[in-house]
Amino acid sequence: MDLVIARPEGLYCPPGDFYIDPWRPVERAVITHAHGDHARWGMGHYLAAAPSEGILRTRLGPDLPLQTLAYGESLDHNGVTLSFHPAGHVLGSAQVRLEYRGEVWVASGDYKVEPDGTCTPFEPVRCHCFISESTFGLPIYRWPTQASVFREINDWWRANAAVGRTSVLFCYALGKAQRILHGLDADIGPIVVHGAVEPLNRVYREAGVHLPDTLYAGDLAKNDPRLRQAIVLAPPSAGGSTWMRRFGDYSDAFASGWMMLRGTRRRRGVDRGFVLSDHADWPGLLWAIEQTGAERVMVTHGSVAVLVRYLCEQGLDAQAFDTEYGDEEEADLVARQESTEGDAG
Ligand SMILES: [Zn+2]
Ligand SMILES: [Zn+2]
Repeated sequence: MDLVIARPEGLYCPPGDFYIDPWRPVERAVITHAHGDHARWGMGHYLAAAPSEGILRTRLGPDLPLQTLAYGESLDHNGVTLSFHPAGHVLGSAQVRLEYRGEVWVASGDYKVEPDGTCTPFEPVRCHCFISESTFGLPIYRWPTQASVFREINDWWRANAAVGRTSVLFCYALGKAQRILHGLDADIGPIVVHGAVEPLNRVYREAGVHLPDTLYAGDLAKNDPRLRQAIVLAPPSAGGSTWMRRFGDYSDAFASGWMMLRGTRRRRGVDRGFVLSDHADWPGLLWAIEQTGAERVMVTHGSVAVLVRYLCEQGLDAQAFDTEYGDEEEADLVARQESTEGDAG
């Protein structure tokens, strides 16, 4: 029996009668993490891993009907035993393990296999069937080490500060921004954040994640001299908007796994691209799938066809699941392009 099937509302567990990261309103939703394409409004009841509670309540409202479980703690529902296990993607992100009559399925949500110091590292979970994301499921995606990327970012910031130019680094507000803050060398200058980033920093700090001190951009006057040595973290949608007018001379950059695609439209309009992703790269996906020991793999979003074909060639029973999960950065980039085009008339 299949423990998870694709339905128009989302991924559904028939014996348990609940959905995992549904994209339409349903009665019972199990949520892997707080990114907008996985955690949506309007569910009757939410179940998530305990460390994601602060972000879910910040994003979906303080009165969210939310129940939480610690990582590894299990709950029985209609004969299905459910537990959450770290996915290493953002604070509180989890894989969902389901067991029913001896059959074990794991739904990954989004995941990253390299530990980053801002969330609990990914833990492989043995299962019969693994439901995997595939955002970067092409052999060209191989991430440089985090240490080398943070060295590049700090060098770029230091060089700009030396000539009195603000460094504006666009990054997704949940997860990516806190990871960058964690890796910045705060001795270089002040660290300024956009209003979309600051509430999430607060949640990370409350969870015990060390982040350097930050200034809120809204508290600084337009020509505040501190801006000339500062690095500014802002969501991509702020690029090309009137919000940018407060910075005089600046250099801008983008931190994303998509920055591996040099010279494409994704890169257009910023001075620098830093390859930093909160998703597994190609070797990371293959390693994670192998670690589960699963003979069946269902692929949900990203480069689905390529990964399915590769896994079938390796002798696994792999198929695609049709979902409406997107990519949080891609969605923000589209918003940015639309706002830029709007400004240009
Ligand atoms: Zn995500
Ligand atoms: Zn996703």
